[in-house]
Amino acid sequence: MNSAQESPQVKKKLVKTLKTSQKLKKIMAWYFIKGKLYSKLPWKQVAWSVSGFPTEFLWAYNVYPFLPENCATIAAARHKSQELIEYAEACGYCRDLCSYFKTNIGAYDSKLPAQFGGLEKPDLMTCTNTVCDTHVKWFQTQSRNLNVPLFVWDIPAYVSGSDEKTMNRYLDYVTDQFWEFTDFMYDHTGKKFNQKKFIKTVKKADELAVLWRELFKYRKQIPAPLGYADTLGDVFPMFALPGKNRGIKFYRELVEEVKEAAKVGKGVVEDEKYRLLFEGIPFWYKIKFFHQLANFGAVVTYEPYTWSFGVRREIFDDDIDRSLREMAKSLIHTPYWYNLETRVEYFKKVIEEYKIDGVILHNNLSCRPSTTGMADLKQIIQEELGIPVLLLTCDMNDPRAFSEAPMQTRLESFIELLESRA
Ligand code: SF4
Repeated sequence: MNSAQESPQVKKKLVKTLKTSQKLKKIMAWYFIKGKLYSKLPWKQVAWSVSGFPTEFLWAYNVYPFLPENCATIAAARHKSQELIEYAEACGYCRDLCSYFKTNIGAYDSKLPAQFGGLEKPDLMTCTNTVCDTHVKWFQTQSRNLNVPLFVWDIPAYVSGSDEKTMNRYLDYVTDQFWEFTDFMYDHTGKKFNQKKFIKTVKKADELAVLWRELFKYRKQIPAPLGYADTLGDVFPMFALPGKNRGIKFYRELVEEVKEAAKVGKGVVEDEKYRLLFEGIPFWYKIKFFHQLANFGAVVTYEPYTWSFGVRREIFDDDIDRSLREMAKSLIHTPYWYNLETRVEYFKKVIEEYKIDGVILHNNLSCRPSTTGMADLKQIIQEELGIPVLLLTCDMNDPRAFSEAPMQTRLESFIELLESRA
C-alpha cells in the first residue's frame, strides 16, 4: 500500500464542506418548525408528497409540503432508521421493500420528533409513479392507515424511442390530470386554482433549477470546487422549497462561493487526484464515506441522483396549455426510465464532460428503478471506456446492508486500480 492509500484513520482527511452549505441547517430548522406550526393550525393545510411530484404546485396553493423520503434520510443520518425499519418488518412489511417506506411506517407510528425524521399527520397526500411504483403503493397504504385523501398523478413510462404520436397521447393524458389535481385541491382545501399565483410559483421553481444546474457547471473544473459531500445535503431546497425565495437566496450564495473557488482554483479536496461519478442514492447512515474519500485524494464530481432533481419547467405567462405540456414533458422524461442504451449514452457524455477517472455504482437493495441494469452498465463502462467501476451492494437507509470492513477493502482496491492507471 502506498502513501496515498494509508489508513484513513491515520490521515483523517475529509472533503471540505462549503461555508454556504453550513447555512442549510438553519433553513431546514425553519422549514420543519414552520411545517409543524402549519399542521397545528386548523386553517392551514399540510401535505405529504414524493420526489418526482412538482412540490411547487402545492406551494402555489399555500399547502405545506412534507417529503417522507427526506424525513427517512434524516432518520438514517441520526442513526434511527434501523429500529424503524425493524418495527415495520415486525408489522409484516417484508425485508425486500423499500427502506424509505419502512422508515416512514416506523417514524409515523412511533411519533418520532422531526429532528430525528418524524412527521405530522397530513391533511392530504399527493404522489406520482414518475420515479417508481413504490411511491404509489406506499402512499396508498399510508392514506388508508391515516384516513387521508390521496391524489395520484399517473405518468406513462417513457421508453426511449417512443414515436411522436404516442408521445402526444402521453402529453394529453398527463395534462388532463393537472385539471383533476386542481379539482382535488378544491375539494380538500376549498381553494380555487389561481393561475397568476401558479405561474409566479412555477417561475421561481424554475429559477431554482437553473441555479442548481449552474453549480454543476463549475464541478467540471479541476480541482472540483464542489463535491457530493455537499450536494447530497444542498439538494434539499430542490424538492422541499421550489417556488420559495428562501431556496433561491441560498442557491445564489452557493453559486457565488463555488464560482469564486473555481476562479482561484480551490478544490474541496487538497491535491485532487481522482474524480469520481457516483450513481445511486447515498448511504444516509454513512455519509462520512463521501467525506473520507479525501483520504485518497478522491472526490465525487458528478452524481445523476442530485442532478435529476434540477428539473426545468418552462412556463409561459399567456399560454397555460403550452406551459402544462412542457410540464408534462418534464414529468415523463425521468432518468430512472431510461433504457440501457440511453443510460450508457448519458454516462459516456458526463464521464467526458466531468473528466471522470472512476465510477462507483450503488446497487441499492431497496430501489429497483435506480439499480436495474447496473451490472450491464458496469461491464459497458469498463469495456468501452476502460474506466474502473466499483459496484457496491448496500442499501440507502438500512445499515444492516453495510459492512464497514469489506467496504473499506473494496474501496482501497478500487483506488489502487485508479492509481495503476495514473
Ligand atoms: S428508494 Fe427507490 S423504490 Fe424507494 S421510493 Fe425512492 S425511487 Fe422508489
